[in-house]
Amino acid sequence: MSKILVTGGCGYIGSHTLVDLINNGFTVVCVDNLSNAEAGCLQGVSAITGVAIHNICVDLCDLAATRAVFEAHPDISGVIHFAAYKDAGESVTDPLKYYHNNIPSLTNILTCMRDYGVQHLIFSSSCTVYGNQDQLPVTEQSPMMPAESAYGRTKQIGEWMIEETVAAHPHIKAVLLRYFNPAGAHETALIGEMPQRVTNLVPVIVDAAAGRRQHLTVFGNDYPTRDGSCLRDFIHVMDLAHAHTLAVRFLMKGKNSKPVEVFNLGTGQGVTVLEAIEAFQVATSLKVPHIIGPRRPGDVVAIYANNDLAREALGWSPQYGIEDIMRTAWQWELQRQLSPTAQE
Ligand code: NAD
Repeated sequence: MSKILVTGGCGYIGSHTLVDLINNGFTVVCVDNLSNAEAGCLQGVSAITGVAIHNICVDLCDLAATRAVFEAHPDISGVIHFAAYKDAGESVTDPLKYYHNNIPSLTNILTCMRDYGVQHLIFSSSCTVYGNQDQLPVTEQSPMMPAESAYGRTKQIGEWMIEETVAAHPHIKAVLLRYFNPAGAHETALIGEMPQRVTNLVPVIVDAAAGRRQHLTVFGNDYPTRDGSCLRDFIHVMDLAHAHTLAVRFLMKGKNSKPVEVFNLGTGQGVTVLEAIEAFQVATSLKVPHIIGPRRPGDVVAIYANNDLAREALGWSPQYGIEDIMRTAWQWELQRQLSPTAQE
Protein backbone atom coordinates (compact mmCIF):
# COMPACT_ATOMS: atom_id res chain seq x y z
CA MET A 1 0.00 0.00 0.00
CA SER A 2 1.62 3.24 -1.12
CA LYS A 3 1.56 6.12 1.33
CA ILE A 4 0.47 9.52 0.05
CA LEU A 5 0.91 12.79 1.92
CA VAL A 6 -2.19 14.91 1.37
CA THR A 7 -1.69 18.56 2.29
CA GLY A 8 -4.88 20.51 2.92
CA GLY A 9 -6.60 17.16 3.50
CA CYS A 10 -9.23 18.66 5.80
CA GLY A 11 -10.35 21.04 3.06
CA TYR A 12 -13.08 20.62 0.50
CA ILE A 13 -11.29 18.82 -2.33
CA GLY A 14 -8.67 17.27 -0.04
CA SER A 15 -11.23 15.47 2.14
CA HIS A 16 -13.01 13.99 -0.89
CA THR A 17 -9.65 12.91 -2.30
CA LEU A 18 -8.76 11.16 0.96
CA VAL A 19 -11.89 9.07 0.48
CA ASP A 20 -11.02 8.18 -3.10
CA LEU A 21 -7.40 7.35 -2.27
CA ILE A 22 -8.37 5.11 0.65
CA ASN A 23 -11.07 3.39 -1.39
CA ASN A 24 -8.42 2.65 -3.99
CA GLY A 25 -6.00 1.05 -1.57
CA PHE A 26 -3.70 3.95 -0.64
CA THR A 27 -2.55 4.82 2.85
CA VAL A 28 -2.84 8.54 3.56
CA VAL A 29 -1.14 11.08 5.79
CA CYS A 30 -3.21 14.24 6.21
CA VAL A 31 -1.57 17.60 7.01
CA ASP A 32 -3.67 20.72 7.46
CA ASN A 33 -3.20 23.80 9.62
CA LEU A 34 -7.01 24.18 9.82
CA SER A 35 -6.85 27.78 8.59
CA ASN A 36 -9.88 27.07 6.40
CA ALA A 37 -11.23 23.76 7.68
CA GLU A 38 -12.37 21.79 10.71
CA ALA A 39 -10.53 18.61 11.67
CA GLY A 40 -14.00 17.14 12.37
CA CYS A 41 -14.48 16.59 8.64
CA LEU A 42 -12.13 13.64 8.97
CA GLN A 43 -14.84 11.88 10.98
CA GLY A 44 -16.86 11.94 7.78
CA VAL A 45 -13.92 10.53 5.82
CA SER A 46 -13.51 7.78 8.42
CA ALA A 47 -17.25 6.99 8.43
CA ILE A 48 -17.28 6.63 4.63
CA THR A 49 -14.08 4.58 4.35
CA GLY A 50 -14.03 2.68 7.65
CA VAL A 51 -10.45 3.86 8.15
CA ALA A 52 -9.51 6.13 11.06
CA ILE A 53 -7.73 9.27 9.83
CA HIS A 54 -6.01 11.85 12.00
CA ASN A 55 -4.84 15.27 10.96
CA ILE A 56 -1.31 16.48 11.58
CA CYS A 57 -1.85 20.15 12.33
CA VAL A 58 1.16 21.81 10.75
CA ASP A 59 1.59 25.11 8.94
CA LEU A 60 3.47 24.19 5.78
CA CYS A 61 5.03 27.65 5.75
CA ASP A 62 7.07 26.39 8.72
CA LEU A 63 9.94 24.45 7.13
CA ALA A 64 11.10 22.74 10.34
CA ALA A 65 7.59 21.49 11.08
CA THR A 66 7.17 20.35 7.48
CA ARG A 67 10.48 18.48 7.66
CA ALA A 68 9.28 16.75 10.81
CA VAL A 69 6.31 15.33 8.87
CA PHE A 70 8.61 13.87 6.20
CA GLU A 71 10.96 12.51 8.89
CA ALA A 72 8.08 10.84 10.70
CA HIS A 73 6.93 9.26 7.41
CA PRO A 74 10.07 8.22 5.48
CA ASP A 75 7.95 5.87 3.36
CA ILE A 76 5.89 8.63 1.69
CA SER A 77 5.87 7.85 -2.01
CA GLY A 78 3.95 10.87 -3.22
CA VAL A 79 2.50 14.22 -2.24
CA ILE A 80 -0.82 15.75 -3.28
CA HIS A 81 -0.49 19.43 -2.49
CA PHE A 82 -3.90 21.03 -1.96
CA ALA A 83 -2.94 23.39 0.88
CA ALA A 84 -3.36 27.00 -0.23
CA TYR A 85 -5.63 29.99 0.20
CA LYS A 86 -8.11 30.04 -2.66
CA ASP A 87 -10.39 33.07 -2.53
CA ALA A 88 -9.59 34.97 -5.72
CA GLY A 89 -11.69 37.99 -4.68
CA GLU A 90 -9.99 38.27 -1.30
CA SER A 91 -6.60 38.00 -3.00
CA VAL A 92 -7.31 41.20 -4.91
CA THR A 93 -7.81 43.18 -1.70
CA ASP A 94 -5.18 41.29 0.32
CA PRO A 95 -2.62 39.95 -2.18
CA LEU A 96 0.20 39.54 0.33
CA LYS A 97 -1.86 37.06 2.37
CA TYR A 98 -1.81 34.85 -0.74
CA TYR A 99 1.86 35.32 -1.55
CA HIS A 100 2.80 34.73 2.12
CA ASN A 101 0.95 31.41 2.24
CA ASN A 102 0.75 29.80 -1.18
CA ILE A 103 4.35 30.34 -2.24
CA PRO A 104 6.30 29.39 0.94
CA SER A 105 4.14 26.31 1.58
CA LEU A 106 4.89 25.00 -1.91
CA THR A 107 8.57 25.96 -1.56
CA ASN A 108 8.76 23.90 1.64
CA ILE A 109 7.00 20.91 0.10
CA LEU A 110 9.41 20.96 -2.85
CA THR A 111 12.38 21.38 -0.50
CA CYS A 112 11.32 18.33 1.49
CA MET A 113 10.66 16.28 -1.65
CA ARG A 114 14.17 17.16 -2.81
CA ASP A 115 15.79 16.41 0.54
CA TYR A 116 13.86 13.24 1.40
CA GLY A 117 13.87 11.73 -2.10
CA VAL A 118 10.09 11.79 -2.61
CA GLN A 119 9.32 11.23 -6.27
CA HIS A 120 5.73 12.05 -7.09
CA LEU A 121 3.90 15.36 -6.81
CA ILE A 122 0.34 16.23 -7.75
CA PHE A 123 -0.31 19.98 -7.63
CA SER A 124 -3.69 21.71 -7.37
CA SER A 125 -3.66 24.26 -10.11
CA SER A 126 -6.60 26.10 -11.56
CA CYS A 127 -8.16 27.28 -14.79
CA THR A 128 -7.44 30.77 -13.45
CA VAL A 129 -3.91 30.31 -14.87
CA TYR A 130 -5.45 30.75 -18.32
CA GLY A 131 -6.87 34.20 -17.57
CA ASN A 132 -9.19 35.45 -20.32
CA GLN A 133 -9.06 33.23 -23.41
CA ASP A 134 -10.43 33.93 -26.88
CA GLN A 135 -10.34 30.30 -28.02
CA LEU A 136 -12.72 27.82 -26.36
CA PRO A 137 -12.56 25.15 -25.15
CA VAL A 138 -9.29 25.76 -23.35
CA THR A 139 -6.57 23.18 -23.94
CA GLU A 140 -3.44 22.65 -21.90
CA GLN A 141 -1.55 24.37 -24.72
CA SER A 142 -3.62 27.54 -24.45
CA PRO A 143 -1.19 30.29 -23.47
CA MET A 144 -1.23 31.57 -19.90
CA MET A 145 -2.60 35.11 -19.93
CA PRO A 146 -2.00 37.63 -17.13
CA ALA A 147 -3.77 36.32 -14.04
CA GLU A 148 -6.88 38.22 -12.93
CA SER A 149 -5.89 38.03 -9.25
CA ALA A 150 -2.97 37.44 -6.91
CA TYR A 151 -4.49 34.02 -6.23
CA GLY A 152 -4.28 33.15 -9.93
CA ARG A 153 -0.75 34.49 -10.00
CA THR A 154 0.27 32.18 -7.13
CA LYS A 155 -0.97 29.24 -9.22
CA GLN A 156 1.02 30.40 -12.25
CA ILE A 157 4.12 30.91 -10.08
CA GLY A 158 3.51 27.53 -8.44
CA GLU A 159 3.50 25.80 -11.82
CA TRP A 160 6.75 27.54 -12.81
CA MET A 161 8.37 26.67 -9.46
CA ILE A 162 7.53 23.02 -10.02
CA GLU A 163 8.84 23.04 -13.62
CA GLU A 164 12.15 24.55 -12.48
CA THR A 165 12.52 22.30 -9.44
CA VAL A 166 11.81 19.14 -11.43
CA ALA A 167 14.33 20.24 -14.08
CA ALA A 168 16.99 20.68 -11.40
CA HIS A 169 16.06 17.58 -9.36
CA PRO A 170 15.01 14.95 -11.87
CA HIS A 171 14.02 12.32 -9.31
CA ILE A 172 10.83 14.40 -8.87
CA LYS A 173 8.01 13.96 -11.39
CA ALA A 174 4.89 16.07 -11.25
CA VAL A 175 1.35 16.36 -12.52
CA LEU A 176 -0.28 19.79 -12.54
CA LEU A 177 -4.06 19.51 -12.41
CA ARG A 178 -5.93 22.57 -13.60
CA TYR A 179 -9.38 22.41 -12.02
CA PHE A 180 -12.29 24.21 -13.59
CA ASN A 181 -15.24 24.77 -11.19
CA PRO A 182 -15.39 22.11 -8.47
CA ALA A 183 -18.80 21.70 -6.84
CA GLY A 184 -21.12 19.16 -5.21
CA ALA A 185 -20.49 16.79 -2.31
CA HIS A 186 -19.99 13.12 -1.52
CA GLU A 187 -23.14 11.02 -2.08
CA THR A 188 -23.35 10.17 1.63
CA ALA A 189 -23.52 13.87 2.54
CA LEU A 190 -20.98 13.10 5.27
CA ILE A 191 -18.44 15.48 3.73
CA GLY A 192 -18.87 18.55 1.56
CA GLU A 193 -17.87 22.15 1.14
CA MET A 194 -17.80 24.46 4.18
CA PRO A 195 -16.89 27.85 2.77
CA GLN A 196 -16.13 30.60 5.28
CA ARG A 197 -17.06 33.18 2.64
CA VAL A 198 -19.71 32.04 0.18
CA THR A 199 -18.64 33.33 -3.22
CA ASN A 200 -18.72 30.37 -5.64
CA LEU A 201 -21.93 29.93 -7.63
CA VAL A 202 -23.13 26.57 -6.30
CA PRO A 203 -22.84 27.50 -2.59
CA VAL A 204 -24.53 30.82 -3.42
CA ILE A 205 -27.42 28.94 -5.10
CA VAL A 206 -27.67 26.71 -2.02
CA ASP A 207 -27.68 29.77 0.24
CA ALA A 208 -30.48 31.36 -1.77
CA ALA A 209 -32.55 28.16 -1.78
CA ALA A 210 -32.00 27.76 1.97
CA GLY A 211 -33.20 31.33 2.57
CA ARG A 212 -29.87 32.53 3.96
CA ARG A 213 -29.87 35.21 1.33
CA GLN A 214 -32.87 36.97 -0.12
CA HIS A 215 -31.87 36.24 -3.66
CA LEU A 216 -28.97 35.43 -5.91
CA THR A 217 -27.80 38.08 -8.35
CA VAL A 218 -26.96 36.94 -11.87
CA PHE A 219 -24.25 39.37 -12.94
CA GLY A 220 -25.21 40.20 -16.52
CA ASN A 221 -27.59 38.59 -19.01
CA ASP A 222 -26.28 40.35 -22.10
CA TYR A 223 -23.05 38.43 -22.69
CA PRO A 224 -22.54 36.63 -26.01
CA THR A 225 -23.54 33.21 -24.56
CA ARG A 226 -26.62 30.97 -25.12
CA ASP A 227 -28.76 32.89 -22.66
CA GLY A 228 -26.62 35.95 -21.98
CA SER A 229 -25.25 34.81 -18.59
CA CYS A 230 -21.61 33.78 -17.96
CA LEU A 231 -20.62 30.22 -18.76
CA ARG A 232 -18.52 27.88 -16.61
CA ASP A 233 -17.45 24.23 -16.46
CA PHE A 234 -18.69 22.64 -13.21
CA ILE A 235 -16.95 19.43 -12.20
CA HIS A 236 -18.21 17.20 -9.40
CA VAL A 237 -15.78 17.04 -6.50
CA MET A 238 -15.71 13.20 -6.52
CA ASP A 239 -14.81 13.19 -10.22
CA LEU A 240 -12.06 15.62 -9.36
CA ALA A 241 -10.95 13.51 -6.40
CA HIS A 242 -10.68 10.40 -8.55
CA ALA A 243 -8.49 12.22 -11.05
CA HIS A 244 -5.92 12.64 -8.24
CA THR A 245 -5.86 8.91 -7.55
CA LEU A 246 -5.42 8.27 -11.27
CA ALA A 247 -2.67 10.90 -11.48
CA VAL A 248 -0.76 9.28 -8.60
CA ARG A 249 -1.00 5.87 -10.28
CA PHE A 250 0.03 7.44 -13.61
CA LEU A 251 3.26 8.75 -12.11
CA MET A 252 3.96 5.62 -10.09
CA LYS A 253 3.64 3.47 -13.19
CA GLY A 254 5.99 5.81 -15.07
CA LYS A 255 3.36 6.53 -17.70
CA ASN A 256 4.35 10.18 -17.96
CA SER A 257 6.13 11.14 -21.15
CA LYS A 258 7.44 14.40 -19.65
CA PRO A 259 8.79 15.15 -16.15
CA VAL A 260 5.87 17.55 -15.62
CA GLU A 261 2.49 16.75 -17.14
CA VAL A 262 -0.47 19.13 -17.18
CA PHE A 263 -4.13 18.11 -17.32
CA ASN A 264 -7.34 20.09 -17.45
CA LEU A 265 -10.04 18.76 -15.15
CA GLY A 266 -13.45 19.89 -16.33
CA THR A 267 -16.36 18.08 -17.92
CA GLY A 268 -15.84 19.87 -21.23
CA GLN A 269 -19.48 20.99 -21.02
CA GLY A 270 -20.09 24.66 -20.44
CA VAL A 271 -23.09 25.51 -18.27
CA THR A 272 -24.42 29.05 -17.98
CA VAL A 273 -25.31 30.64 -14.66
CA LEU A 274 -29.00 30.56 -15.59
CA GLU A 275 -28.74 26.90 -16.64
CA ALA A 276 -27.04 26.09 -13.33
CA ILE A 277 -29.92 27.69 -11.43
CA GLU A 278 -32.40 25.71 -13.52
CA ALA A 279 -30.46 22.46 -12.91
CA PHE A 280 -30.67 23.07 -9.16
CA GLN A 281 -34.40 23.69 -9.39
CA VAL A 282 -34.93 20.50 -11.40
CA ALA A 283 -32.69 18.40 -9.12
CA THR A 284 -34.29 19.58 -5.88
CA SER A 285 -37.76 20.84 -6.87
CA LEU A 286 -36.90 24.03 -4.97
CA LYS A 287 -37.07 27.60 -6.20
CA VAL A 288 -33.92 29.69 -6.30
CA PRO A 289 -34.90 33.35 -5.95
CA HIS A 290 -32.70 35.31 -8.32
CA ILE A 291 -32.50 38.69 -9.99
CA ILE A 292 -30.55 39.95 -12.96
CA GLY A 293 -27.92 42.53 -12.07
CA PRO A 294 -25.33 44.43 -14.08
CA ARG A 295 -22.16 42.79 -15.34
CA ARG A 296 -19.52 42.37 -12.63
CA PRO A 297 -16.07 43.81 -13.45
CA GLY A 298 -13.39 41.15 -13.83
CA ASP A 299 -15.75 38.27 -14.68
CA VAL A 300 -14.52 35.98 -17.44
CA VAL A 301 -17.41 35.66 -19.93
CA ALA A 302 -17.05 31.99 -20.72
CA ILE A 303 -14.55 29.24 -19.99
CA TYR A 304 -14.73 25.48 -20.31
CA ALA A 305 -12.19 22.74 -20.66
CA ASN A 306 -10.97 20.52 -23.37
CA ASN A 307 -10.35 17.41 -21.20
CA ASP A 308 -9.10 15.05 -23.93
CA LEU A 309 -5.63 14.76 -22.41
CA ALA A 310 -6.88 13.68 -18.98
CA ARG A 311 -9.23 11.18 -20.62
CA GLU A 312 -6.48 9.68 -22.78
CA ALA A 313 -3.51 9.74 -20.43
CA LEU A 314 -5.21 9.14 -17.06
CA GLY A 315 -8.20 7.12 -18.27
CA TRP A 316 -10.37 9.67 -16.46
CA SER A 317 -13.97 10.23 -17.35
CA PRO A 318 -16.33 12.37 -15.29
CA GLN A 319 -19.32 10.42 -13.99
CA TYR A 320 -21.48 13.22 -12.58
CA GLY A 321 -23.52 15.83 -14.43
CA ILE A 322 -24.73 19.25 -13.38
CA GLU A 323 -27.93 17.95 -11.75
CA ASP A 324 -25.89 15.44 -9.68
CA ILE A 325 -23.73 18.33 -8.57
CA MET A 326 -26.79 20.29 -7.45
CA ARG A 327 -28.48 17.27 -5.83
CA THR A 328 -25.43 16.34 -3.76
CA ALA A 329 -24.73 19.96 -2.82
CA TRP A 330 -28.30 20.23 -1.50
CA GLN A 331 -28.11 16.87 0.34
CA TRP A 332 -24.97 18.15 2.06
CA GLU A 333 -26.82 21.35 3.01
CA LEU A 334 -29.70 19.33 4.49
CA GLN A 335 -27.26 17.18 6.45
CA ARG A 336 -25.58 20.30 7.86
CA GLN A 337 -28.96 21.74 8.85
CA LEU A 338 -29.77 18.51 10.69
CA SER A 339 -26.49 18.39 12.60
CA PRO A 340 -24.91 21.83 12.44
CA THR A 341 -22.28 20.90 15.00
CA ALA A 342 -21.46 17.49 13.55
CA GLN A 343 -18.75 18.95 11.35
CA GLU A 344 -17.06 20.96 14.11
P1 NAD B 1 -9.92 24.50 1.01
O1 NAD B 1 -9.66 25.85 1.55
O2 NAD B 1 -11.21 23.85 1.35
O3 NAD B 1 -8.74 23.51 1.36
C1 NAD B 1 -7.40 23.95 1.49
C2 NAD B 1 -6.91 23.46 2.83
O4 NAD B 1 -5.54 23.83 2.98
C3 NAD B 1 -7.68 24.06 4.00
O5 NAD B 1 -8.20 23.01 4.78
C4 NAD B 1 -6.64 24.89 4.77
O6 NAD B 1 -6.87 24.82 6.15
C5 NAD B 1 -5.34 24.23 4.34
N1 NAD B 1 -4.18 25.13 4.33
C6 NAD B 1 -4.08 26.35 3.75
N2 NAD B 1 -2.86 26.85 3.95
C7 NAD B 1 -2.16 25.94 4.67
C8 NAD B 1 -0.83 25.89 5.19
N3 NAD B 1 0.03 26.90 5.06
N4 NAD B 1 -0.46 24.77 5.88
C9 NAD B 1 -1.31 23.74 6.05
N5 NAD B 1 -2.58 23.75 5.59
C10 NAD B 1 -3.00 24.84 4.90
O7 NAD B 1 -9.78 24.61 -0.59
P2 NAD B 1 -10.19 23.56 -1.71
O8 NAD B 1 -11.39 24.10 -2.40
O9 NAD B 1 -10.23 22.20 -1.14
O10 NAD B 1 -8.97 23.74 -2.69
C11 NAD B 1 -7.86 22.88 -2.64
C12 NAD B 1 -6.84 23.35 -3.65
O11 NAD B 1 -7.46 23.40 -4.94
C13 NAD B 1 -6.29 24.74 -3.39
O12 NAD B 1 -4.92 24.75 -3.73
C14 NAD B 1 -7.07 25.61 -4.35
O13 NAD B 1 -6.36 26.75 -4.72
C15 NAD B 1 -7.25 24.67 -5.52
N6 NAD B 1 -8.42 25.00 -6.35
C16 NAD B 1 -9.64 25.07 -5.78
C17 NAD B 1 -10.74 25.42 -6.55
C18 NAD B 1 -12.12 25.56 -5.93
O14 NAD B 1 -12.99 26.20 -6.54
N7 NAD B 1 -12.40 24.97 -4.78
C19 NAD B 1 -10.58 25.67 -7.92
C20 NAD B 1 -9.30 25.55 -8.48
C21 NAD B 1 -8.21 25.21 -7.68
